[in-house]
Amino acid sequence: MSRVKSFLSGLDDYELAYFARFKLLTYMKATQSEIKEYLIERNLNESKIDRLISENPKSKLNDERERCPRCYSDKIRKDQVEWTNTSGGFGIEDEVATWDGLGGRATYKNEVICNVCGFWLEDPNQEKPLPTSKKVLNVIWDILLGALRR
Ligand SMILES: [Zn+2]
Repeated sequence: MSRVKSFLSGLDDYELAYFARFKLLTYMKATQSEIKEYLIERNLNESKIDRLISENPKSKLNDERERCPRCYSDKIRKDQVEWTNTSGGFGIEDEVATWDGLGGRATYKNEVICNVCGFWLEDPNQEKPLPTSKKVLNVIWDILLGALRR
């Protein structure tokens, strides 16, 4: 079993629906078709995915576990990352980080990402890809080019 498939087999139908909606397109083409085959195996089609996402019963859960605010899965990944974003500083925590940086000591923070839908819960270095704003930029660019051609 491939890595992606063994990961998928650990997801329940709801998690799989969120995965299909938000993560699928971030994979390489070959992996995408492997994932799509697996979705068919699990009987998930577009309309079922829509339904699962809209009725996700986990949104009503009230336990002590840390959950993704988007898909409510507790399959959350925490990575310790060296905190480099000290420039925009506000608050004392930022000043301490800068000071440590100057002293040659790095500050570590948790980067917290949902393993199921790819939602960033904590993004200390603002590394999160910004597909929407990029799209907006492309639209603006298109409009500019269009205006120039006229
Ligand atoms: Zn999630």
